[in-house]
Amino acid sequence: MLINPFDDPHAQWLVGKYSTTDEIQALTKETCETCGIMDIYPDIEWKFEKRFKTTLGEASYWADSEGKNYWLIKYSSLMWLPLGDTGRKNTVVHEVCHLAVERLYGHCSRPKKGQERVLDHGKHWQDLMKKCGEDPFLKVCHGNEI
Ligand SMILES: [Zn+2]
Repeated sequence: MLINPFDDPHAQWLVGKYSTTDEIQALTKETCETCGIMDIYPDIEWKFEKRFKTTLGEASYWADSEGKNYWLIKYSSLMWLPLGDTGRKNTVVHEVCHLAVERLYGHCSRPKKGQERVLDHGKHWQDLMKKCGEDPFLKVCHGNEI
């Protein structure tokens, strides 16, 4: 059984960056600042999902019947460590940028003339990724590569 790196700062030298709760939280905050969505930062929750075997991360947003907004990101606990520093950073920024697109632009299925349609991995999302210094097209490894 491997040690759980997520909450053990002493294990960090083994597993690299963005592997502890504090680091992921700090990167989430930094990404919110860069994207200009600090208003929703306190409401963003994230957690590891054991069931994600092929999905690295998933960002979701919904509002309940009382109008309270929920912003949730789930990461695959299984695939997290093999990703390496670059892949983990890219994945966190990737998912936070999905929430940023939702917050800043919402879904617009019928854009006005001359406006770019808001798509999951469309221009709005790509621009935010670049603003955060991340490659929107980075293919992060899902396997055992380092
Ligand atoms: Zn995505």
